[in-house]
Amino acid sequence: MPDYAALDRYVEEHMSAWTDELTQFCRFPSESTDLPALRGAAEWIAERLDRLGARVDTVELPGDPNVPPLVIGEIGDGPMTLNAVQHYDVQPAVPYELWTTPPYEPEVRDGRLYARGVTDNKGELMSRVWGVEAYLATLGRLPCRVRFLVEGEEEYGSGHLDQLLDLRPGIRKVEGALIEGGGVDLVGQPEIVGGVRGIIVVELFVKSIAYDAHSSLATVLPSAPARLIQALATFWNEDGQPAVDGLNDGVLPPTPAQVAIVDSTSTADLADRKREFGVDRFLGGMNEREAIRAMTFTPTCNVQGLWAGFTGPGAKTITPAEAHVRIDIRLVPDQDPTAILANLRAHLDRRGFEDVKFGAKAEQERAYWTTPDDPLLDAAARVSEAVFGRPAKRRLSAPGTAPMWQVCGRDTIRMTSLGGGHDDCRAHAPDENYRLDYAAKAAQVTARFLDEFAAIDG
Ligand SMILES: [Zn+2]
Repeated sequence: MPDYAALDRYVEEHMSAWTDELTQFCRFPSESTDLPALRGAAEWIAERLDRLGARVDTVELPGDPNVPPLVIGEIGDGPMTLNAVQHYDVQPAVPYELWTTPPYEPEVRDGRLYARGVTDNKGELMSRVWGVEAYLATLGRLPCRVRFLVEGEEEYGSGHLDQLLDLRPGIRKVEGALIEGGGVDLVGQPEIVGGVRGIIVVELFVKSIAYDAHSSLATVLPSAPARLIQALATFWNEDGQPAVDGLNDGVLPPTPAQVAIVDSTSTADLADRKREFGVDRFLGGMNEREAIRAMTFTPTCNVQGLWAGFTGPGAKTITPAEAHVRIDIRLVPDQDPTAILANLRAHLDRRGFEDVKFGAKAEQERAYWTTPDDPLLDAAARVSEAVFGRPAKRRLSAPGTAPMWQVCGRDTIRMTSLGGGHDDCRAHAPDENYRLDYAAKAAQVTARFLDEFAAIDG
């Protein structure tokens, strides 16, 4: 058994310096609209992987300098290769006024580092880099090859990842993959996921008149917002549950093994989350058990945002010419995003809403799940239990989306999660934060996992 005590000590001793470097990384406002910041963050991580001792390869999309590069960092060798799927782009930080301290001026408070992207995914990525560094420093040669795949468009649908990966043939042919992060719930229990959901993001809009009219004309002119609201009202039933025709197309009934995993999950954490969100019931009055099943097996239909007319201070008596909404739909395995998008169009047309148009570009990603009895999931659970000191919870799928279909789907590569992202890290929200004690544990768990991964047979 390797001397993990020395490794754990190395991690503890380096956390202060590592927190400083994560602070630097989080200063890049690498949002999808800020190409210089994206390129700055890409260079920063390429340089850091180089310092780790990795062979770094920055992959640009030929002929399109507006696509942020894929940074590949490969370290170690041997018959087993692990792809670690990560990203250096971040969600938009707006609204700034809801942040306690500015999102790109990272600050430590109460053992947490606060910044946009500090958990998702810069901190989780760095925890893995630190895990590899600690392994090399205390145990020597890596037992397998680790390949970091660090992209810059994850928060915007990984639209070019397939093309970028295709530029390096064979890069997907590996023995296992890690999704970008790993979770710890509010009571400190690690969570292991074996998959991700897919997603569609689409904008719908109505243009009802040539330009905004004086609102006295509302008696005779069609209102774009009213029209859009009528169309949207058909997307959910009275309980707020999705009612889009064909939304469930392709959904296979869960296997007994899948149901068993889902039902083995304790529901205590969901009760906490209800409190955290300040709600006293789930949609449709679902109990916690039903909620966990729904969060795993059922597609969603969600409004991201709605905009129309005048929303500034005071009043402006207009009948708006246009109204817009952005919808996202989370998919489960075997659902084809293109077909579901066509179903959404047909749902509208069937009800006479041909005037509700789709925006030019819809983001689409497929879901991907590893079979629940895969040894990679057992390995992740074992090391997480060893480091976090609590039994690991298994999940078939993360509730969210990551580009695992692009990386793993073609060759049916097994995948899992691993790390210290916590339920109250406020990923995608103001005051995003990363617990530094969990950041250290994520490094320790990564290092141990390499030994477990290298020992997997078949
Ligand atoms: Zn992420």
